[in-house]
Amino acid sequence: MSEEFQIELDGILIEVLRKRIRHINLKVSSPDGTVRISAPFRASLKSIRDFAVSKLGWIKKHQKRMKERMDSVPPEYFNRNNYMVLGELYPLKLMDSDSRPFVVLENGSLVLHAKAETSEEEREFIIEKWYRAQLKKELIPLVEKWERTMGVKVRKVFIRRMKTKWGSCNYIDRNIRISTELAKRPLKCLEYVVVHELAHLLERTHNSRFIEIMNRYLPGWREQNEELNRFPMR
Ligand SMILES: [Zn+2]
Repeated sequence: MSEEFQIELDGILIEVLRKRIRHINLKVSSPDGTVRISAPFRASLKSIRDFAVSKLGWIKKHQKRMKERMDSVPPEYFNRNNYMVLGELYPLKLMDSDSRPFVVLENGSLVLHAKAETSEEEREFIIEKWYRAQLKKELIPLVEKWERTMGVKVRKVFIRRMKTKWGSCNYIDRNIRISTELAKRPLKCLEYVVVHELAHLLERTHNSRFIEIMNRYLPGWREQNEELNRFPMR
């Protein structure tokens, strides 16, 4: 059970969701800066409003940052017919073909050779598989390079469809997971995520020692992190 309504505060529309939780919390969602509050059923409208007021400065700061980030993204990025590969946008071209479907980058386009009747869902699936193969090709040499440089050893590298994380590391099993989304981003960003996950084999948490390790091996990591989050996942 839940209850939804909206409140307005200083020109900002806030979506409120009352549900079975203990504390009020607030989130500014990427990429559009939508503000959402989750609140327990017992929270009064006044307490929700007071909470929002107390966070107003924070909300505005985050919305401004998100807007600046969005403004720096070329509008073509939001065209569903454009696909990003290693940081470059390519329009999708469909080529009618009776052979097994395949994808290739050709003359500035991402060309999908497939039967004309291939459904949109199937097309997405084929392209996703292609992304994964592209990523794997780039990822494996990078992992090997950084294993040598950092003196660590990964047991297994998984490429996973993840929409909320770029990568993760299981310190105990010594496995790393890399998001297929990284096939869309510049190679430098993939390298940054690899170094970040390998650094977790040396230091489990994001503490000052972790930052030191990152600074030592990849002094430009903060820029790569910025670049990585410049384009919203879609
Ligand atoms: Zn981490």
